[in-house]
Amino acid sequence: MKEILERQRTFFNSNRTKDLDFRIEELQRLKTLLLSNLNRLNEAIYADFGKSPFETFTNEFGLVFLDIDEACKKLKSWAKRKRVRTNWVNFPAKSYIIPEPLGVSLIIGAWNYPYQLSLAPAIAAIAAGNTVILKPSELPSHTSKLLAELINTHFDPAFFHVVEGGVNETTALLEERFDKIFFTGSTTVGRIVYLAAAQHLTPVTLELGGKSPAIFTEGANLQMGIRRLIWAKFLNAGQTCIAPDYVLLPKSIREEFLRLAKEEIERASYSIENGNYVQIINDRNVSRLSQLIDSKKVYSGGKIDQEKRIIEPTLMHEVTFDDPIMQEEIFGPILPILTYDTLAEAISEIKKREKPLSCYIFTGNPALKNKLLNELSFGGGAVNEAIMHISNSRLPFGGVGNSGMGSYHGEAGFRTFSHYKSILEKANWFETKLKYSPYSEGKLKWIKRLMGMK
Ligand code: NAD
Repeated sequence: MKEILERQRTFFNSNRTKDLDFRIEELQRLKTLLLSNLNRLNEAIYADFGKSPFETFTNEFGLVFLDIDEACKKLKSWAKRKRVRTNWVNFPAKSYIIPEPLGVSLIIGAWNYPYQLSLAPAIAAIAAGNTVILKPSELPSHTSKLLAELINTHFDPAFFHVVEGGVNETTALLEERFDKIFFTGSTTVGRIVYLAAAQHLTPVTLELGGKSPAIFTEGANLQMGIRRLIWAKFLNAGQTCIAPDYVLLPKSIREEFLRLAKEEIERASYSIENGNYVQIINDRNVSRLSQLIDSKKVYSGGKIDQEKRIIEPTLMHEVTFDDPIMQEEIFGPILPILTYDTLAEAISEIKKREKPLSCYIFTGNPALKNKLLNELSFGGGAVNEAIMHISNSRLPFGGVGNSGMGSYHGEAGFRTFSHYKSILEKANWFETKLKYSPYSEGKLKWIKRLMGMK
């Protein structure tokens, strides 16, 4: 590990990654590598948790390819020096900002979208001119192994290298000095990463989780809203960082909501065979989730197949904020439905908790929409939709407070892996005596006058 790190530092210092064509070539190499191994990549993720090729394309590689294409197309404009106005104090001069790569980056991935969450940050890092050491999550072992095999045999390890491993390997990596650490995972481990980074003053981006609410107001288009919400919740069997964690709605629409939500789940017919459902990642999570299901509050679903690691899409009703399911991020196919008397009460409950990664607002009322957008703090979200904000790369993606810091995707990703170097370039044809000694009352008066002071 130390040797690879040293080689990456030497490679970075050779300035090879400063060349934009080099970055584009490497991004294209990655795309070609993935495209020519799609079958194997599909098989590996299916072996890990039963994810179908359709979903592997739509929510893993589709996003990765879009990211690569966009970076290749826009890189030259993102990497350009940007001129800014020079203030009178510095006349005559020009001022500009040079984006420069940070250096050797460490990317630590989460398991739930094992390709996308490892590769999307790597694309941003490469586009910005960094070298990359990628540590995918060890839980989906087939995908982690295949990523390591493919990347480590097709890229110069001095530029892009995968290190496999779990807690021990990551702990060892975190002892080393990086120029940037990009972490995706839980808030608990996020704290460990942040602490380790502090030892070297390494800048970090933390993409964490939280309990993302979906709020319905009276008059919301229930049919459409529920269709989108149910899809977003049960995609990947709820193992999505931005999945709607729970629903908050007025009592008046509860019965209709429950009926329509159940119908939508039946219509979707979730199963591994249908390609629209996946297994829970491991036994530990199956037992964690099964403890969160309160059988007295199950409205529909609730069956668990321990052996196959499948939990049915489950709706829970009459849930309160005191229930066990409301104490932690669910990260599984269980949707608790809570009611509120007034929207102000709903807002106050959300504000009592940590800032979520996402929030989804289902309403037809612009005043209520704006009230919620204005009063609640969360990473990002959607109105009358859920999770799809992640697919627009012009929207920086990231959390706030306990759900993370920093953002990426599109230009935001490039910025995350760059330092913006500010330069003042002075002309030599003129110089005032104002700033030089000997100082005098007269000079001070002039300075104050130029500053608009009396
Ligand atoms: P995790 O924190 O358990 O693991 C993430 C990574 O950290 C893995 O690579 C793992 O090997 C490593 N790790 C685990 N324990 C460690 C330790 N003690 N020291 C050092 N490294 C350690 O998270 P997870 O279970 O893979 O993912 C689930 C969490 O991630 C959820 O909270 C979810 O919301 C969040 N998440 C966030 C995003 C996002 O984009 N914001 C995306 C996916 C998942």
